[in-house]
Amino acid sequence: MKPGADFTFIRPHFPSLSFSCSAGPAWCRLERRLRTAEQAFRQIQNIVDFTSNVISCLLGEKFVHSGEVVRLPLEFVRQLSIKIQHQRPAWRCDKVMDIYSGCALCLPNLTSPTLHQPTPTPPLCIEIKPKCGFLPSPKHVSKDIKTRVCRYCMHQHYKVANGKWKRRSLYCPLDLFSGNKQRMHFAIRHLIEEPQNNLKVFKGGQCIYSSKEGSDESPDTNSLLHHLRPYFLRGNNRVNGHVTTKAVLNDFIQVLGNALLSAAGGDGGQVTDRTGEGRSFCEASLFNKERIRHGSQGLPTNNILSRILQTQMLDSLDIEGLYPLYCRVEQHLQDFPKDRTGLQIDGPYDQNFLEKVQKCLMEDDDSVEYAAAKVHQYRIAMTAKDCSIMVTLVPSSEEEDDDEDLSSQKRLRDFRPQAFSSSVSVLDLDPKPLDSVPRQLRLDQKIVSCYLRTGGTLPNSSLPPLPSILAAEREERALRFQAV
Ligand SMILES: [Zn+2]
Repeated sequence: MKPGADFTFIRPHFPSLSFSCSAGPAWCRLERRLRTAEQAFRQIQNIVDFTSNVISCLLGEKFVHSGEVVRLPLEFVRQLSIKIQHQRPAWRCDKVMDIYSGCALCLPNLTSPTLHQPTPTPPLCIEIKPKCGFLPSPKHVSKDIKTRVCRYCMHQHYKVANGKWKRRSLYCPLDLFSGNKQRMHFAIRHLIEEPQNNLKVFKGGQCIYSSKEGSDESPDTNSLLHHLRPYFLRGNNRVNGHVTTKAVLNDFIQVLGNALLSAAGGDGGQVTDRTGEGRSFCEASLFNKERIRHGSQGLPTNNILSRILQTQMLDSLDIEGLYPLYCRVEQHLQDFPKDRTGLQIDGPYDQNFLEKVQKCLMEDDDSVEYAAAKVHQYRIAMTAKDCSIMVTLVPSSEEEDDDEDLSSQKRLRDFRPQAFSSSVSVLDLDPKPLDSVPRQLRLDQKIVSCYLRTGGTLPNSSLPPLPSILAAEREERALRFQAV
């Protein structure tokens, strides 16, 4: 646990198994309740161990909060379950909250840090689910399109075609993970225009901006910009003292991009240029490559995006190359069920597990150990592809702003319109179960065949009709014009 962290966020337990205690005689119910409580405790402890012993080493201790397992009064859990039921998204409601064990995961509330000096404007917290930031190697995939169009962009087509979302997002993770400021700006802007499940904005702990699944309505970007305006009153790009919507948006994106690019201490690390690999551009991205005039083409190695990307790339075989190895493990477990423990299929997620993953052989020696290590790597990569980044921005107080030595230098270096102190954390780091592998293969096949069937095109109605941010800008310009 990080010293001084504010542990006020309780994550209830949603078991993959059904926890029922209602049937059977009283002694049986009591025994079952004790057993399920023990199971629940172990399941949550497994998440904590996986986060602290495996993910924390890969992503960097500074970014990861492992949390701790806590026991809560059952009445409190029951009341909580009633209170949150209607707030949970429909697609999550197949999982029932465990109200019998009293076990939960306690994590810091990153949306509302309490360890900051009070400022007139409360801290902002931006949650980004970046998804997979690279294209697979052509060696292992059966369909060439997978080496040209990223998984996220193909999945967008699938989701829109199946009605999960009404409009397609123009966000592409490869732009965000590029390390190039222009491409990152483009990516963040499209996250804001069509946030779906990939972006949420909190102010003082309250969610002020997010998407509603299946809804026809676009999220209210004008309202977001209204919330953001007081944070960006000072800075460049001001027209005759008037803070334009465009300037507010640009400054916000710039501050957010800088926070994502900031390094985990040290000198920022080397920059890894991935353009030569030919795997860092997605054909479906609308970012025009010609627009890259200057700036870095890679991420500093110590940076959070770089760490997440490296961890995602533990998936070196793609699901298609991995699946035969998964089958080898499954076959072996059927023949030798007791080896499940030795192969650490369901943990424990300790130092030994991490070593298996990090010291995995380069070449397949036909052993089950090799296959299991590759499956472990894939599952860790899946966690990194599904994680959320929380960027907390705390506006600096006036006194700090006036500190010439430090703040002005920092502002100059980062071209920051207003000084913010930022912190970055990573959440949603649960281990993915072994049986997620065949599910992933089926989903992959569906997504790719849907994309090939539609030729990568969707009805015009699925494109954001007139981005509301642009609409707001135009309206504002027209009003100013009339006023003159
Ligand atoms: Zn893409």
